Amino acid sequence: MESVTEIRTSPIPAAYAVTGMPDDPLVARVYEEAPHAYRTPFQRDRARIIHARAFRRLAGKTQVFTHRPSDHFRSRLTHTMEVAQIARAVAGALHLNEDLAEALALVHDIGHPPFGHSGEHALDRCLREHGLRFDHNLHALRIVEFFEQRYAAFRGLNLTIGVREGIIKHSRDYTVADHPELAAYALDQQPPLEAQLIDWADEIAYLTADLDDGFESGILTVDHVRAHLPMFSRFYDAMELRFPAAATQMLINETLKQMLGAFVDDLIATTNQRLRIRHIGSLADLRRLQTRIAGFSDRMEEERAAAKHYLYQYLYQSEDLEAAHREAEEVVGTLFNCWIDNPELLPSSCLSDLQTDGVARTVADYMAGMTDSFILAQFAAHKARC
Ligand code: MG
Repeated sequence: MESVTEIRTSPIPAAYAVTGMPDDPLVARVYEEAPHAYRTPFQRDRARIIHARAFRRLAGKTQVFTHRPSDHFRSRLTHTMEVAQIARAVAGALHLNEDLAEALALVHDIGHPPFGHSGEHALDRCLREHGLRFDHNLHALRIVEFFEQRYAAFRGLNLTIGVREGIIKHSRDYTVADHPELAAYALDQQPPLEAQLIDWADEIAYLTADLDDGFESGILTVDHVRAHLPMFSRFYDAMELRFPAAATQMLINETLKQMLGAFVDDLIATTNQRLRIRHIGSLADLRRLQTRIAGFSDRMEEERAAAKHYLYQYLYQSEDLEAAHREAEEVVGTLFNCWIDNPELLPSSCLSDLQTDGVARTVADYMAGMTDSFILAQFAAHKARC
């Protein structure tokens, strides 16, 4: 495999380039806008995402821990910033469009409901009873297309097609048969590399950060992780040898940095190598492939899977966190049914959506936008009458 240094001196073919300039088809918007004097379309999208109300609410949403006794635990916002940092670095090393990659990273979790994945599962279970589903990527698209209201002339943020396609395609594949409403996004084609990178940047960010927060919480211990996760123990041993006088916390910090760096280096090198082996010379070539091309080498994929498996077994499904998951189920389930049975209790801002989207979708959209503290306050206010 090539080293990262070799990649920097041998960029992928320029014909691949997502230029992001006004003549790039990926910068088309639903409502046409005049070019900005000094900002590119993707830079404007990045700004629109950062200024969105839904983006600010990420500060109050669970990443892993809903109840955060220390200020150092990640929220969904600080996780998002870590993903953006990684995505931009990887995009830069591969000579991709860094502004597109950064905008996609900043928006990638904007559709997450309160209480992290347990909130998403709970909301999905509620909607299934009404023949509907909840999916955070599809909800993110609804946020940027409809719910954000910052422009007098139209609903939503009027983001470029490149960013909207990336919201839909960054982490999974949808089919037109299941989602005819997404037909405009060429679902049978692979997304640009900038979008393909986001899921991996997300994994790199949370696998390392969740170990960190797991230690901070006291649920994980260094000895246990060293005994069960070879990648961690390998770097930890090396750091201990190099810094024999360093405190355990410093060795953890060094180890997690090394792990993050190793994942990033491998992602860059492997993705670049696959581009060359498959002779990808343009975005059209990439779009025609049967599978995505960004990813890790087989060896690093094993390390990634092992880290993820470890976190599921010993952190996400630990008794401490299962208690929070049960709380999320109860709060989401109770409030959803309360508003389904009593839609008159919904705020007046939901009334017009009730007519167009029906009560179940309107309630789910309203709840998905909530922060952890807001939904807990709603639960406290409503549980007596539900
Ligand atoms: Mg994420």
